[in-house]
Amino acid sequence: MIPDIDDLVGAAYPTMVELRHDLHAHPEVSFRERRTTEVIRARLDDLGWTVAPTGLDTGVVATLPGARDGRRVLLRADIDALPVDEEVDVPFRSTHPGVMHACGHDVHTAALLGVAEVLARLDGLVGPTTLVFQPAEEGLGGARALVEDGLLDRHPADVVLGGHVTSLAPTGIVGVRPGVAMSRGEAFEITLDGTGGHGAMSTREGNVVLALAALLPRLEEVVARLATDGAPCACSAGVVSAGTANNVVPRRATARGTLRTFTPEQRATALERFDALLEQIARDFGVRAHAAWQGLTPAVVNDPTVTARVRAALVTALGDAHVVDLPPTSASDDVAELLERVPGCYLFVGGAPSDRPVGMHHAPDFFVEDASLRVMARSLLAGAIELTRP
Ligand SMILES: [Zn+2]
Ligand SMILES: [Zn+2]
Repeated sequence: MIPDIDDLVGAAYPTMVELRHDLHAHPEVSFRERRTTEVIRARLDDLGWTVAPTGLDTGVVATLPGARDGRRVLLRADIDALPVDEEVDVPFRSTHPGVMHACGHDVHTAALLGVAEVLARLDGLVGPTTLVFQPAEEGLGGARALVEDGLLDRHPADVVLGGHVTSLAPTGIVGVRPGVAMSRGEAFEITLDGTGGHGAMSTREGNVVLALAALLPRLEEVVARLATDGAPCACSAGVVSAGTANNVVPRRATARGTLRTFTPEQRATALERFDALLEQIARDFGVRAHAAWQGLTPAVVNDPTVTARVRAALVTALGDAHVVDLPPTSASDDVAELLERVPGCYLFVGGAPSDRPVGMHHAPDFFVEDASLRVMARSLLAGAIELTRP
C-alpha cells in the first residue's frame, strides 16, 4: 500500500522546521551561500540523493532516478538571503549582523529538503527528479549562471516546479496564475550632463540638478495605464546622485532605477515613453540625457496546461478553499530563466500569521510562519506527482 502523502510530509515536518531555523539563523547573501550549501549537501547525502556539481561555488544540484517511465521533473528552490538587519524577535533570528532571510528563501530551501526526504523514502513516486538549490536569486544572476553552465543539458527536464512563500497571504493559502505571473525586470542608469558652474550664478539652462529633480516624479508616466489584470507595471528610481558642494552646480547627475513589465508590448510602449521623456527633459533644461540598460530577469510565465493540472492537484491535496487565483505581481524572480526553457509552474504559498501584521518582503520585520513549510512541501509534491504522468 502506498503511504499517505500527508503522513509522509507530516513525518518530514519536524526536520523541515529544524533546518529552516538553522538556515534562518545563518543567512548568507547571493553567491556567498557556502554554509547553506554545506547544510543542503549534508542533508541530501544522508537521504541518499546523488549530488552533482553545479559549476558554481555555491548551490546544490541533486538527482534521484525515480520512476523510469515518468516524466522528468525539476524542482527549484532559491537559497540566498539579503543585506538587511533583522528586527524580528524570534529564537532563530539571524546571527549574522546585517544579513537576513527577508524574502523567505530559508522556507523554500527547507521545504524542498522536506520534499527530498519524502521522495527518498518513496522512490518511484515521481519520475526522474532533479532538485536545484539555486544561489543568488536576489543578486539576480544565479539561475542564468546555472543555465549558462549547462544545468539543463546535464539534467534535462520535462517540467519545472517551484514556489515562493509570501507574507501577503495567510498560511494555508496557495496562489496560482497561468501565463505571466511575475514581471520582467530590468535596470537603468540615467546620466544627465550639463554645463555646471557657480551655484550663485546658475540658470535653468544646463543645470543637471534641476533636470534630475524634474525627471524623477515623471518616471511613473512611463508606465501610466500599463497593467495586466489590474496589476500595474512599474518604473522608479532607487539611487540618485548629483553634486559635491553647496555652491557648485555639478556637471553630471545620475539616477538608477528599475522597469517592470509583463508583456513585450507593454515593454515597447514603456521604452518609447522613456526615451521621449529623456528627450523632453534634455530640451527643457539644455542638458544631454542618456540611459544605459541592463536586463535582469525575464517575466515568469507559467505554462497554462501545466498550471491547470497543478491547480487541480492542489485542490485535491489541500481543498478548494485553499487554492486561489492571483493577478500577476510586479516583483520578479529568476526562476523565469528555467521557465523560459522548460514548461512549468511557479506557485505562491501564504505564510502570514493570522494574529498580527508582518512586514513586506525585503523589510527588516518580514516574517512567515513555519507552517508554510508543510504547505510548500505538500504543494510541490502534489504538482510533481501529477506532472509525472504524461
Ligand atoms: Zn526577494
Ligand atoms: Zn524571493
